[in-house]
Parts: sequence; structure tokens; C-alpha cells
Amino acid sequence: MHIAFIGLGNMGAPMARNLIKAGHTLHLFDLNQQVLGELAELGGQVSDSPRDAARVAELVITMLPAAAHVRSVYLNEDGVLAGIRPGTPTVDCSTIDPQTVRDICAAAARQGVSLGDAPVSGGTGGAQAGTLTFMVGASPELFATLQPVLAQMGRNIVHCGGVGTGQIAKICNNMLLGISMIGVSEAMALGDALGIDTQVLAGILNSSTGRCWSSDTYNPWPGIIDTAPASRGYTGGFGAELMLKDLGLATEAARQVHQPVVLGAVAQQLYQAMSLRGEGGLDFSAIIKGYRKA
Ligand code: NAD
Repeated sequence: MHIAFIGLGNMGAPMARNLIKAGHTLHLFDLNQQVLGELAELGGQVSDSPRDAARVAELVITMLPAAAHVRSVYLNEDGVLAGIRPGTPTVDCSTIDPQTVRDICAAAARQGVSLGDAPVSGGTGGAQAGTLTFMVGASPELFATLQPVLAQMGRNIVHCGGVGTGQIAKICNNMLLGISMIGVSEAMALGDALGIDTQVLAGILNSSTGRCWSSDTYNPWPGIIDTAPASRGYTGGFGAELMLKDLGLATEAARQVHQPVVLGAVAQQLYQAMSLRGEGGLDFSAIIKGYRKA
């Protein structure tokens, strides 16, 4: 299949590599010439603009940093919608707000083009291994078209509902994750300050009602889980700046529907303070540093 792939960063480049490996012809566009060169060596075709990539495509995939980039890549004069043929399916895998997805979907529909959202979880490791989870918001017909291609980049392809619902699932999950990591950090740091062995405490939490992923798989206390970023100086993993971005999406989406997200808003402020301290490049579990003596 001829696939236009636009946005070839930490996530997009390995996803595109997996599609090339699966035998597709990729028409690539990014602002970064270096990554285009690397993927061209694997057989990808370099396009001059999103419009040119879309012109020859049977499917368009985008993986961009934030809503403003997605808007421009689809709606600009040299954007996807300026080149695409009616009937061509499109899917945006970036993490952005649900309203932007719905706005672009409406613009695409006026040209006879269907667009879905399919944000991912699984990080760069999952993108390389082809084991991502895709949370897909799309009509049933579009989902049926996208599913086999997404399955070449991921392991779990979940149909969440109509357009925008993939983003809703993603931001609700990540808001809860951001909050639960703070909760585990407070509990671990309190236990340590009061004098219990943190290994013993983690064992109790992980077999009691406080158990959660932030505690039993990704514990923020160094040395509890060997494979967690906390055990390698909070490097790798899911950057605090990305968590801050997702909490911003959640609180803004909540504001639009007048829904209180009290703990989500507090969590956002704590990750913002972490960013101000110059720790935004660390894994988000380094939020625990705010609870420990330097
Ligand atoms: P990234 O910054 O590494 O890559 C983005 C790419 O988009 C870059 O190569 C950049 O040059 C390109 N780009 C920017 N503007 C462009 C434009 N106008 N036209 C063409 N290309 C353009 O970001 P990433 O880590 O790959 O993340 C992409 C999306 O996936 C984000 O929305 C992020 O929140 C989400 N996400 C990331 C992770 C992760 O662990 N990195 C995990 C899950 C979801």
C-alpha cells in the first residue's frame, strides 16, 4: 500500500520503519532532513510537502508534537487536504485535544475524506518493537480499514468510539497515571521519613489496597523495581514534560465541558514546578524528588 507518513520523530520514525519492513511504500515528510535521509536509505520516498505525500497515498498517517502542528499539516496551503484524493482514509496518531481532531475531521469530511484519531501508549520502546496500543476514534468503516495497518505497528488496537474518543481515552488514562504517581511518591516518602524500610513498604503496598501500576511496575523509589527509570537515575521512560503536556490537555478539555478535575489540576501544577526546577527532561516518576531531602 502507498502510505503517506508525516512526522518522523522519536515515535513516528520507528513506526514508519515497521511499515517499510511490512512491505508498504512510504511517502515521507518531516521538517528534519536527517531523519528523511535515514528512512530513504531503507526504501522510503521523500516528499516535498504534506500535500505531495498525500497526493499519491492510499492512506495518510500523521505523528506530530501538538495540535498546532497537526492543524498546519492538514489545513495549510501545502497541507494534506490540499493534495488528498476523495475517499482516502487518514489517521492522526499524535496526542492532542479531542476538539482539534473533530475540527479537522469536519474539514476533511467536506472533501469526502474520513479522518480518525489513534493516539498511542507504549512509548518509544513500544514504537520500535511494534507493540504499541492504539486508542482509535473513528467510524466503524474507517476503523476496519485502519486496523490491519495499525496492527503492523502495535499489539492492541482498541476501537474507543467515534472520532475524538481515542484522545479522550488517552488523556483520561494519563491524567490518572500522573495523579497515581504523585500518590505513590507521597506514600513512599512518608514511610521513609517515619522510618520503615522502603522495600518492606513497597511489598505491603503491592499486596494491599494501595497497589497500582505506579507502585508495582514503575515505583518511583530507587531500587524497588530494577527495570523502572527510578533505578537508573530517572533516565529514559516517559518524560515529565510529556506528562505535563497531557495534563494540560486533560484540564483544558475538562474546562470546556465544566467538569471538575481537582486532582488533575493539582498534578499539573506539581509537574509544572518540576519543569521549572529544570527536571522536565527526567522521567515523570522523578516527581518524588519534591518529597525527599536533597
Ligand atoms: P518528536 O518531537 O520526537 O517528533 C515530532 C516530529 O514532527 C519531529 O520529527 C518534527 O520535525 C516533526 N514536525 C514538527 N512539525 C512538523 C511539520 N509542520 N511538518 C512535518 N513534520 C513536523 O515527538 P514524538 O515523541 O515522536 O511524539 C509525537 C506525538 O506522540 C506527540 O503528540 C506525543 O505526545 C505523542 N506520544 C509520545 C510518546 C513518547 O514516549 N515520545 C508516547 C506516547 C505518545
